[in-house]
Amino acid sequence: MRNIQLFGFDIYCNGAEKCIAEIKSRAGKIHIISGNAEVLKYPLADKGVYALFKQIENIIIPDGISVYYPAKRKNKACKKIPGIELMQLLLEEYSNSGKSVYFLGAKKSVIENMIPKIRAQFPRLMIAGHHHGYFDKNNCHDIIDNIKESKAHALFAALGTPAQERFIFEYMNQLPCSLFMGVGGSFDVLSGAIKRSPKWMRLAGLEWLYRLLRNPSKISRIQNNIAFIIKAFLFG
Ligand code: UDP
Repeated sequence: MRNIQLFGFDIYCNGAEKCIAEIKSRAGKIHIISGNAEVLKYPLADKGVYALFKQIENIIIPDGISVYYPAKRKNKACKKIPGIELMQLLLEEYSNSGKSVYFLGAKKSVIENMIPKIRAQFPRLMIAGHHHGYFDKNNCHDIIDNIKESKAHALFAALGTPAQERFIFEYMNQLPCSLFMGVGGSFDVLSGAIKRSPKWMRLAGLEWLYRLLRNPSKISRIQNNIAFIIKAFLFG
């Protein structure tokens, strides 16, 4: 099935299962980017960042409704891929194939609570290393060295947006990892610190409402989402 173009970005439309197959079939480095209004507003505001988002290594998934609805309008068969679900499928895949992972991000307590939960869920997964996300992103040689020494196959970065994308673009060529994925607040959910929205809300495309009710200070995000959707329908 064809991918669609949104503001010139290639949006992956074939769903999570096929995305895993695509990842397995690719040689070289891969950067999975969660396509949503919050993440894509940065490349749309800066030509240099835009060029990075157009790199061949990237797979941009329709993670949020702000990207999924406009994508579905262009290709009715387009399937939504929530980043957290793709991450879990990848962890399952790496448990089976013996590839190791490194988790970078979130608060120290959050990542420390998450690791045993991940071990319980994926007992065969090789966790090569982990580190919390509160460090100077411009001066982090010790963390880069630690990831290098871990020889992890995959790096999951939960540093928030745009820090996680910046980090990956800046360091991906120095690091030995083959797969890089920015996963936003996923560690908070997987650690149990934050609950994901109920399934019915997800199915109804209302995950954003759940997040807003939990954190009303993020109202500007909703405005950004609405503006992005309108622009995407008109000009995307
Ligand atoms: N985070 C981090 N380092 C930072 C800022 C944020 O590790 O310097 C983590 C934060 O603890 C959370 C994740 O990044 O686990 C997503 O944060 P936030 O919800 O602020 O990001 P957003 O969802 O807004 O991208």
